[in-house]
Amino acid sequence: MSDTCTHILRKPLTDSFEREIRSLRISITEKCNLRCRYCMPEDSYEHHSKDVITLEEIKLLVEVFHSFGINKIRLTGGEPTLRPDLTEIVRFISNYCPNIELNMTTNGVLLEKFGIDLLNAGLKRINISIDAIDPVEFQYITQRNQYQKMMNGILFALQLGFESIKLNVVAIKDFTERQIPKFIKFIEGTNLEVRFIELMPFSGNLNFQDKFLSKNEILQVIEQTHALTPIQKDNLSQTFTMYYVDGKVKIGFIPSVTDSFCKNCDRVRITADGNLRPCLHSSNEINLTNLLNPLDPELEGHIREALRKKWKEHPDFRIANYRPPLSDRAMILIGG
Ligand code: SF4
Repeated sequence: MSDTCTHILRKPLTDSFEREIRSLRISITEKCNLRCRYCMPEDSYEHHSKDVITLEEIKLLVEVFHSFGINKIRLTGGEPTLRPDLTEIVRFISNYCPNIELNMTTNGVLLEKFGIDLLNAGLKRINISIDAIDPVEFQYITQRNQYQKMMNGILFALQLGFESIKLNVVAIKDFTERQIPKFIKFIEGTNLEVRFIELMPFSGNLNFQDKFLSKNEILQVIEQTHALTPIQKDNLSQTFTMYYVDGKVKIGFIPSVTDSFCKNCDRVRITADGNLRPCLHSSNEINLTNLLNPLDPELEGHIREALRKKWKEHPDFRIANYRPPLSDRAMILIGG
């Protein structure tokens, strides 16, 4: 298998703001073994679409979107490790085109069980969603008693030697401030990086306005006890800003609310029930699975049309009493 792939390439996908789409996020399940308060609808959640995209549909969509020049794919959910054919999906993508930058976002709870298979199937990069380095605080935010399994998963992934392991921390007011020193201590001496993600409003979850903690507020907390050195961005579409803490560990921020990166957005999403969602915060979607079986000769046209309808940027969530449309999907049904 050569390390480059020579598949037919079509004209890149662009939206009406001339933003070229290079990154695809595929949610491969709506199931999750945690109930994070900022992701799950507050009332009970047992929703599982019966029409979750099949392995064959995922393979076809990867081929189609790669032909548009997509070179980054992230597998998300729900929790991807709950999908029985996850290793086959990883193996297909990494064999189909080795120079696709493949990544997966997981909560780490089942990493000790599946880590080796995923690594051998070609997965090199993982982001682990973890909001607390404390069993009691972890149980509060996830509403599940899975702290030790998650921690074992992280330590096992470190041993396995994944090329990149990043810890994604959703920043929540009156909660994350207590976690910051614990995260800085936890990653010291490892190649782990922590990314603080500004909370975003989605229908049915936490009261965004009350719980919002900005990148600058976190920087102020850290600067009280540590020296911070900004790190230059690699490219325009890079959504995170990085810092060295005391010149020792690397932390980052995804400030999607206070410093939105929509201007250089290069991504689209496919939901677990097979819809193309050009923007995380817009309910403007088209169903793709209906266009795959049989393969609709106008598939490319439908996808380009959907991209032309992609809006310029997400609304300003900080305006007083901003509420996401209740009719829109909860975060669990969009994917990270
Ligand atoms: S909010 Fe939408 S337009 Fe903005 S960066 Fe995210 S996906 Fe792109």
